[in-house]
Amino acid sequence: MIPLDVFGSESVAADLLEQVRWRDGVTCPRCRSDRTVRNGSYREFQRYLCKNCDRTFNDKTGTIFAHSKIALRRWLFSIYAFLRFNTNLRQLQCEIEVTYKTMHRRIERFARALDAPSLNLVGPVEIDEVYVSAGKKGRERDRESRSRGLSTRGRGSYSGDKPPVFIIADRGTGQRYVIPAKAADESTIRLLLADRKEESLTVYTDGFRAYEPLEDDNAFDREYVVHGDGEYADDEVHVNTCESHASRVRRWLSPHRGISKDKLTQYLRAFQLRRELFRKPGRDALKHALRATL
Ligand SMILES: [Zn+2]
Repeated sequence: MIPLDVFGSESVAADLLEQVRWRDGVTCPRCRSDRTVRNGSYREFQRYLCKNCDRTFNDKTGTIFAHSKIALRRWLFSIYAFLRFNTNLRQLQCEIEVTYKTMHRRIERFARALDAPSLNLVGPVEIDEVYVSAGKKGRERDRESRSRGLSTRGRGSYSGDKPPVFIIADRGTGQRYVIPAKAADESTIRLLLADRKEESLTVYTDGFRAYEPLEDDNAFDREYVVHGDGEYADDEVHVNTCESHASRVRRWLSPHRGISKDKLTQYLRAFQLRRELFRKPGRDALKHALRATL
């Protein structure tokens, strides 16, 4: 259920932020001391006084919501609609009644606050890449020419505005990772697979030659399928999970066509977060998203 009460009332939104932010107790954002006392309020937000450094702060201080002219409830609605319904920012701008530039900055500020996924691969893992059309600029005027979307055919390059995005599916943990890269080469692949639980990792790939060096390495047990060679999924050895995940990535990016390649990382982290809260009820999903930015 959509948490409409949060989006309808600034004080309910403020309560939600307070709950999530101080779930482990109130600490001073400046000196980290927990010697704090409630000290009036700043609009709908609780204010506190730190007895250690003698300064005041409120629920928003030090978060992405600080110094924002937009009401928190509108912010939260934007984040919710963005993650949950994959609403494009131009549409959101109309719902929230702010300028496109403001909406863009807010959503980017949110996405930038998200942490990089930490890989701890158990394996077997599937790894595959897709190439996303993402220009440098991605401005309004580029809109038409940026609508080509994702293509899984052919290899693109970062400099050619078709940066590679790696998809890793860890069958051991059920986790999926989506990580943009500057190049689809051996060193990038090694870096991506470096974070693993055991010494040796079973890796399934397609026939792309950048994966070949893994075969001479004792740390990996590489097996691969050759696409277009009449060879279909050979029992365990396939990258089908990556491929279906890639189509989800494609759908996620599609309303945001015109994303600059510099911004891909943050949009893909938001995609990762979207997946985490997929099955959560509305309020829990919103809390989870909030927590991810703190
Ligand atoms: Zn302090």
